[in-house]
Amino acid sequence: MSLPPAAAMPESEKSNGSVRATGRAFSHATRNSNLDAMQADGVELLVIGGGITGAGIARDAAMRGLHVGLVERGDFASGTSSRSSKLIHGGLRYLAQGDISLVREAARERFRLRKMASHLAAPERMMLPVWGRTTAGLLKLRAGLWAFEKMAPIEESELHESWGRDETLARLPTLAANGLQGAVVYTEYVTDDARLTLETLKSAERHGALCINYAPAIGIEILGTHAVTSGNGKSAAPRFGVQIRDAETGEVRRIEARCIVNAAGPWVDAVRQLAAGAQPRMQLTKGIHLVVPRERLPIEHIVVMPAADRRMVFAVPQDDVIWIGTTDTFYPTPLERPEISRADVDYLLEATTRAFPSLRLGANDVTGAWAGVRPLVAEEGKSPSEISRRDEIVTESPGFFSIGGGKLTTYRAMAEKVVDGVERCLERSPGRCTTHEEPLVDSERKIAMARTTLDDEGIDEAIDTECALTVADVLERRTRANLFAADNGIGDLERVATHLGRRFGWNDERTAREMGIHRQRVAEDLAWRIPS
Ligand SMILES: Cc1cc2nc3c(=O)[nH]c(=O)nc-3n(C[C@H](O)[C@H](O)[C@H](O)COP(=O)(O)OP(=O)(O)OC[C@H]3O[C@@H](n4cnc5c(N)ncnc54)[C@H](O)[C@@H]3O)c2cc1C
Repeated sequence: MSLPPAAAMPESEKSNGSVRATGRAFSHATRNSNLDAMQADGVELLVIGGGITGAGIARDAAMRGLHVGLVERGDFASGTSSRSSKLIHGGLRYLAQGDISLVREAARERFRLRKMASHLAAPERMMLPVWGRTTAGLLKLRAGLWAFEKMAPIEESELHESWGRDETLARLPTLAANGLQGAVVYTEYVTDDARLTLETLKSAERHGALCINYAPAIGIEILGTHAVTSGNGKSAAPRFGVQIRDAETGEVRRIEARCIVNAAGPWVDAVRQLAAGAQPRMQLTKGIHLVVPRERLPIEHIVVMPAADRRMVFAVPQDDVIWIGTTDTFYPTPLERPEISRADVDYLLEATTRAFPSLRLGANDVTGAWAGVRPLVAEEGKSPSEISRRDEIVTESPGFFSIGGGKLTTYRAMAEKVVDGVERCLERSPGRCTTHEEPLVDSERKIAMARTTLDDEGIDEAIDTECALTVADVLERRTRANLFAADNGIGDLERVATHLGRRFGWNDERTAREMGIHRQRVAEDLAWRIPS
C-alpha cells in the first residue's frame, strides 16, 4: 500500500489547489467510513489527539489541501479542552511576568477568534478590584492595561475604564469594602471550550479531514523511508505506521502516514514513548473550578479575586451560574478525570469569601465542579504559575512532531506554526494559512454555548452531526449539563440514554451502564463534600 501524494483527494473536493468544503456530515456513520478510508489509503498527516490543539491543526492542514486524519483516544475534547476556565483572554498576567510576545500573540488571537466565531467568544467586562493602603496598585494596573491595549486591535467599547472606591461599591455592594481603593474594568471573552473544539473539528471535516473519536493510537512504527530534498541536499524521511484500536469494536488497524503530529495534551510524553524511549518533557499542573448558582454570588461581570498565595482567581458569570477558578498545583500523572480535593475547594472558597465576606459562600452552595490538567513544557525550578504557557514544537524525528504548552486562546496560531513545519517536511510549496479569514461556523449552524439540555431531535443532531457515541458525550460535551444544569443532567439522563440506546441498538445492560457512568462521575466531582 502506498501513501497518497498531495493530490490524492477526490477531484470533487478540490478547487484551485485548495480543498473545498465537502459538506460531509460529522457523524457516527462517517466515523466508521473515515476509519476504513484512512486504513485503505493512508494520509499525508495523522494528528494524534482531538483536543483544541489537534482540532486546530487538522482544520488548518485540511484548509491548505493536505490529506489529513485525526484520531482521538476518547471523545473529542474529553481531555483538558473541556476543563479550562473557558476564557479567551489576552493574558494580562503574562505582562507582569514580562512575557510580552505571549501577551501580544494572545491579544491578537483573541481579536481574531472574536471575528471567526463571535458566538463562541462573548465579550464580558472583567473587573479587577484593588485593595491596599494606597492607590499605587490601581495606578500600576491602569498602566499595564494602557500598554496591553496597544498590543493588538481592540474595539472602542472594550477599552478599560477605572472606577473609584465609591463607584465600585455602588456597582457591587457585596464586595469587601475594607481597604478597597477602586477597580479597573476591561473586556475579555468567555467561551465554551468543548464547543469551540467541536466546531473546529466540524470545520476541519467540512474541508476534508477525517476525524475519529474512541480510537487511541497504541503503537508507532517506521515502515520505510522516502527521499526528501532539504537545505542539506537529499535525505531519507521515514513513513510511519500508526496502530489504532477502534474502541467500538476492539479491532486494531494500521494507518500509514507521511507525517505525524502528536497533540495529545497531557499525554504528549506517553505518545512520544510509543515511538521511542523519549525522555519526558512535559510538566503537568492541575486546576479546578467550582460552580455556584448566580443568586448566591450575584455579579454582573467577571470579578478577579486575590487568593491566599496572591494568585488571582476568577468568578465568571454565565446565565444563571457562576464558575470560580482556578487552582494551579503540580500534578504527576495525567488522568482523564483528575480528582478534586477538599484543599483545592477550600482555596477557592477562601478567596471568594475574602472578596465577598457577607455572602458566606460555603461548600454546600457548590452545584458542580471540574478539574483539568495543563500540558506545560517543563521548566526546572519554577513554581506552577511561573511555568510559561508558551507552546513548543519538538521534532522527534523527520516527519514526527510533538506540540506541548499553549492555550485555548492561541490554538489557531499554534496550528499555523505546526502546519508550516508539516508542509516543509512534505516538500509542498507552502499553502497560505487562511484559518483566521474563514468563519468557524456557518451562520445557520450556530449552536449556543454552555447549553444544558437537548430534546430528542437535538440528541439526533449530536449523533448525526457531532459524532456523539455515549451518554457522557451528550451530557458532558455536546451539552454542559454535568457542569451547569442545577441537577447535573440527572433529570435528562434516562431519556438521553434510552434515545441513544434506540439509535445504537444497545441492550438494557449497556443502557444501564451508560446511566451508571454519568451518575458516578457527578458523584465523584462532588465527592470532596463527604467528610473523610
Ligand atoms: C484549569 C485550566 C484552566 C485553563 N484555562 C484556560 C483559559 O481560560 N484560557 C485558555 O486560553 N487556556 C486555558 N487553559 C489551557 C487550555 O485549556 C489548554 O492549553 C488546552 O485545552 C490544551 O489542549 P490540547 O488539545 O493540547 O490538550 P487536550 O484537550 O487534553 O487534548 C489532548 C487529547 O489527546 C487525546 N489523547 C491522548 N492520548 C492519545 C492517544 N494515544 N491516541 C489518541 N488520542 C490521545 C486525549 O484523550 C485528549 O483528548 C486552561 C487549562 C487548565 C487545566
